[in-house]
Amino acid sequence: MHELSIALNIMEIVDAEARAAGADEVSKIELEIGSWSGVEPDAIEMAMAEAIRETIASKAKVVFHWRKAMAACEDCCNEFEPEDIFKICPYCNSLNTHLLTGKELNIKSIEVVKD
Ligand SMILES: [Zn+2]
Repeated sequence: MHELSIALNIMEIVDAEARAAGADEVSKIELEIGSWSGVEPDAIEMAMAEAIRETIASKAKVVFHWRKAMAACEDCCNEFEPEDIFKICPYCNSLNTHLLTGKELNIKSIEVVKD
């Protein structure tokens, strides 16, 4: 499953960061995921619950921040929420547009507990 490998990847980074900080436990993991990142919300939530098991973050609260896709038009300079991969500008019908946000797949923050 695509999302499980992403979740395991996230946990590798979280684990390395927590150990580098001398933490005993990770209490919270905040993730930022774009709606165009190719990640399914339900699948990634399940995958994260699975991936944190028996790790330094086994009791961590995992918070997802979903970012909607936004595109900008080069011709009329308007910003809009694209409906599909063609990102046609709804204001002037231009195809001369680019994605501003929506492909994020970031670890926003990690909270750790130290004794
Ligand atoms: Zn436009």
